[in-house]
Amino acid sequence: MNKPVKFDASGKPHIPTAEELGFDPAEMRRKYDAERTRRLRPDGARQYLDIEGDLKQYNDDPYITARIERAPVTEDIEVAILGAGFGGMLLAARLQEAGIRSFRIIERAGDFGGTWYWNRYPGAQCDVESYIYLPLLDETGYMPKEKYSFGPEIYEHAQRIGRHYDLYPRAHFQTQVRELRWDEAGSRWVVRTDRGDVFNARHVVISSGSLNRPKLPGLPGIRGFKGHMFHTSRWDYAYTGGSSEGNLDKLGDKRVGIVGTGATGIQCIPHLGKAAGHLYVFQRTASFVDERRNSPTDPAWYRSLKRGWQAERNQNFASLLAGIPVETDLVSDGWTDLFKSLNELLGGAGAASLSPEELALLGEIVDYRHGNRLRARVDSIVKDPATAEALKAWYRPWCKRPTFNDEYLPTFNRPNVTLVDTGGKGVDRVTEKGVVVDGVEYALDCLIFATGFEVSRVTYTHQADLEIFGRNGQKLGDHWAQGMRTYHGLLSHGFPNLFHMGFTQTGFSPNFSDNLNRQAEHIAGVLAEVAARGRTSVEATQQAEADWVALVNSPNQMTEYLANCTPGYYNAEGTSKGNDGFLQGQYPGGGVQFYEMLAQWRAKGDLAGLSLR
Ligand code: NDP
Repeated sequence: MNKPVKFDASGKPHIPTAEELGFDPAEMRRKYDAERTRRLRPDGARQYLDIEGDLKQYNDDPYITARIERAPVTEDIEVAILGAGFGGMLLAARLQEAGIRSFRIIERAGDFGGTWYWNRYPGAQCDVESYIYLPLLDETGYMPKEKYSFGPEIYEHAQRIGRHYDLYPRAHFQTQVRELRWDEAGSRWVVRTDRGDVFNARHVVISSGSLNRPKLPGLPGIRGFKGHMFHTSRWDYAYTGGSSEGNLDKLGDKRVGIVGTGATGIQCIPHLGKAAGHLYVFQRTASFVDERRNSPTDPAWYRSLKRGWQAERNQNFASLLAGIPVETDLVSDGWTDLFKSLNELLGGAGAASLSPEELALLGEIVDYRHGNRLRARVDSIVKDPATAEALKAWYRPWCKRPTFNDEYLPTFNRPNVTLVDTGGKGVDRVTEKGVVVDGVEYALDCLIFATGFEVSRVTYTHQADLEIFGRNGQKLGDHWAQGMRTYHGLLSHGFPNLFHMGFTQTGFSPNFSDNLNRQAEHIAGVLAEVAARGRTSVEATQQAEADWVALVNSPNQMTEYLANCTPGYYNAEGTSKGNDGFLQGQYPGGGVQFYEMLAQWRAKGDLAGLSLR
C-alpha cells in the first residue's frame, strides 16, 4: 500500500495525490469528522457516574484475603510516598540512591503493583515492550519472559522490586491517606490515614495513579440490574472462575455482556468469548487493533546487554515517537512503525522544507494509510461482513490508546459471540434483566464494565481520595479550581514540599514507567539539593507557576490534534477547552524535551523558579 517517496527538483518531498494514494484525504477527513460528530454528547465527561454512596462497592478491593491488623503509627519521617505503584517504588529506589532513607510508602491496596495490582482481568498485558516498560531491570537483573509481558509477570516484578530495595518494611498497605495538612511552624506535612496513623513528613510525594478510580457509565437503570455486575479493574474470579490467564470455567452456562471496547476490553473479550455460554459485546466506538508480534526473550541477546541499556532503549523509543531522528529503531514495533512512516514519507528532506499545512497533510496521510491497513485487517479476519464493517475504527490513531491483539478479532467468528454495535451512541439503558440497545433487550446473567477510569484535571484530590490543606489552610482543590497549577508539573505555590508524579502538567511519552522513572530521578535530585543547602522547605514561586501554567496550556500540535479527535478521555470526551483532557495541558515539546529541559535545569544548579527556606 505504501508508495515510495518522490521528490521534486528542489528536493522537497512530493505530497502524494488522491490518485497515487488510492484514496482521497479530503473524503477521509469528512468521514472521520462525521464519525466524531455522531459521538459528541452535551454531557461530555459528566456522562459517567461517580462511584460513591450506593456504588461504592465497585471500588472495593476484591483481592484482599485478610485485613492487616495493626496499631496506629505516629512517626517523624523525611518523605511520605503516597502510592505503591511503579511511581512510588521508583521514587523509593531513587531516594535511596540519593542517600535519603527515612521514608514510608502508604497504599490503599494490599501489595505493591499499582495498576497491575488492580487490573488482574484475564488477558491483561502491557502494550509497551517489556524491556522498556518493566522498571529497574538493570538493577534487579530480571529477564522478562517475552517481548510483551502479561499482567501476572508485571505484578510479580513489582514485588521483586519491593524485595530488592527492602521496601516491604517501609510500606503500609491497606491504608488510605485521608488528609495532608501543612504545619508552617514545623515546616512539615501532617499526614493522617484511615488507620489513625500520623506521619510528620518533611516532604510528601503523591503518586496515586492517573487511572486509578474505576468509572461506570451513567446508564438509566444501572442500579437496578439483578444479575451479577463488576468493573474490569475489580475482576470477580469467584464468579467467573479461572485466573488472569483465562479458563473462566464458571461462565459456561452464563449469558455475559461487556460494555467497552477500549484497550482493556480488547484484551479480556477473547477470554470471555472462549468461556461464556453466550457473550454480547456492546460497542460504542471500535478500537484499532493491530497484530501483537509477541515473542519469547532470547536469553543470549539479553545477557549481551551492557549496563545502562534500558535507559538507552527508553530514550531511543521516546525519541522516535517524538519525531527526533535516531540511527536505529531498537524497539521496532507497532508504535515505532507508525512514526517511522511519517519520516519515510518525508524522506531525507525532513520537515523543514514543507509548510505547516503540507506537513499536517502528510501527517494525515500517514494516519489514513494506517487506518486503511487496519480496516483491511478486520476484513481479512472477521467472516461476517456486517460485523467486520462495525469493527472498523474511523479516527486518527492517537485519539485513543492503540491496541495490539491477535485473538480479539477472531473472537467475533465464534457462534457464541455477538457484537452489538450501538452506532456510536452507546447502550440505551439497563433493566433488571439485561441491557437495551435500539429497543432490543439482551438478557444477561452477568454484566461487565470495561469502561475505564475517572480522569479529570480539576478533581485530582477526589481521584486520590484525600484532602490537602496547604499554607494558611488553603485547599489544593480550591487552588486548582480552574485547572491544575504547577511548576514543572511537580510543585505548586502555597503547597511547599508537596510533589506530584504522573501527567500533572509534565511531559508525555507513551511509556508511563519511563516518565515516572525520570520524574523520580528529578524529585530525588531536588530533595537532595534542598537538604545539601541546609533548607527545610521548597516551593514554586507564584510567577514560575503562572508562567508554567501558561506554557502548558498554550495551543500546540497535540491539543489541535486532540481537539479534532473522536471523544474519549484523552480530550475530555470531545468537549475539551484545550487543557482538560488526559493528554492535554502537558509540556508542548513532549516527553523527551521535557526531561531534557529538567536535566539542564538541574545542571544549572540555581533551582530557578523555586523558593527555599
Ligand atoms: P477506556 O476509557 O479506554 O475505554 C472505555 C470503553 O468503554 C470505550 O470503548 C468506551 O467507548 C466504552 N463506553 C463507555 N461508556 C459507554 C456506553 N455508555 N456505552 C457503550 N460503551 C461505552 O478504558 P480502558 O480500561 O479500556 O483503558 C483505559 C486506559 O488504561 C488505556 O487507555 C490505557 O492507557 C490503559 N491500558 C493500558 C493497557 C496496556 O496495554 N498498557 C491495557 C489496558 C488499558 P468510547 O470509545 O465510545 O468512549
